[in-house]
Amino acid sequence: MRKRFVAGNWKMNLSAQEAEELSATLAGKDFSAETQVVLCSPSLYLSGLIQTTKGNARLAVGAQNCHQEVKGAFTGEVSAVQLKSLGVEYVILGHSERRAYFGEDNALLKTKVDAALAAGLKVIFCCGEVLEEREAGKQETVVASQLTEALAHLTEAQMADVVIAYEPVWAIGTGKTASSDQAQDMHKMIRGWMSNTFSSDVAASGLILYGGSCKPGNAKELFSQEDVDGGLIGGASLKAEDFVSIITA
Ligand code: PEP
Repeated sequence: MRKRFVAGNWKMNLSAQEAEELSATLAGKDFSAETQVVLCSPSLYLSGLIQTTKGNARLAVGAQNCHQEVKGAFTGEVSAVQLKSLGVEYVILGHSERRAYFGEDNALLKTKVDAALAAGLKVIFCCGEVLEEREAGKQETVVASQLTEALAHLTEAQMADVVIAYEPVWAIGTGKTASSDQAQDMHKMIRGWMSNTFSSDVAASGLILYGGSCKPGNAKELFSQEDVDGGLIGGASLKAEDFVSIITA
């Protein structure tokens, strides 16, 4: 039985006070034992977030990126080892905004995944096609190669610390959601990829999240698909009420 898993990606939003207020509200909620909730905040709020949420066993804290090196002269960057030393549990890697605006490709992401897992972090690895790729019917090939190039070298034990998030780029922050059939088709393909690349055990236990304009109004239908184990939520994770209603969908 796979857990339900909902992660909020705050991106570069919220003031320190707003972040504190939102995390305190979420820390006061009683989520079911089958649910894992992860709050992925800007790096500078992580320490406070860990303090605010530590009394709630369902809540974990995640970063939105990390550098591939352990330490060194990389001004403005944060390493996986540093995140781990703070008490951070998860890191998002491969988000489409990192791919598009910061030129992160699968080869670089492979090194970031290795660095994160070596440091003891769990990885939320994002994959997804852009609109032109979907219109050309290439979405499954694109997603399979993103996964193969960044994750196929891992061991089965390492894959236990990787959550895959399918995020069609055309659905992120646009208000356009993939239909539940489109999401299920892709998630089924990803589970098949896990089975072929690793084993049926990895496929049966692996978590696959959907992300892209997931809201209180569509979460239930998306999450009820057989291969959808939860969501990676952007905009709707910034309001406690919306995020809670997605978590409990
Ligand atoms: C995201 O950026 O991961 C995301 C899913 O954003 P939104 O929910 O705002 O589309």
